[in-house]
Amino acid sequence: METDCLFCRIVAGEIPATIVRETERTLAFRDIYPKAPTHVLVIPKEHYGDVAVLAESDPGLAGEVLATAGAVAEAEGLLGDGFRLMFNTGVNGGQEVFHVHAHVLGGAPLGPMIAR
Ligand code: AMP
Repeated sequence: METDCLFCRIVAGEIPATIVRETERTLAFRDIYPKAPTHVLVIPKEHYGDVAVLAESDPGLAGEVLATAGAVAEAEGLLGDGFRLMFNTGVNGGQEVFHVHAHVLGGAPLGPMIAR
C-alpha cells in the first residue's frame, strides 16, 4: 500500500467509498463526481500507477480488472445499450489519481470520444 495514494486508502478502508463489486484482487466503486448516470471505477487492489505499468508488470491482473469492469457493466444493466471503458493515462490523458483505474461509463449516450 502507498500511504499517500487515495485509492490505496479506499482499498484499506481508510476512506469511504460506495463499493459495487469486489474480487480477491480488484475493487469497483462509484465515482464520487459521476460524469454519466453510471460511473464506476475499477482498480486492482495492489498499487500500479497506470494501465501501461499494470499491463507490463502483471498482465493477468490487468485481465482481472477488465473482467471486473465487464461484470460491473452487466450488473449495472449497461450491456444492452453499451458503455465506455476508459483508462486516462498520464498528464496528456488527463489522469488525476495515479493508481490505475478503469472508468465504466454508461446509462445515456456519452457523446464523442473526445470533446473539442
Ligand atoms: P482520472 O482523472 O482518470 O485520474 O480519474 C480520477 C477519478 O477519481 C475522477 O473521476 C474523480 O471524480 C474520482 N475520485 C476522486 N476522489 C474519489 C473518491 N474519494 N471516491 C471515488 N472517486 C473519486
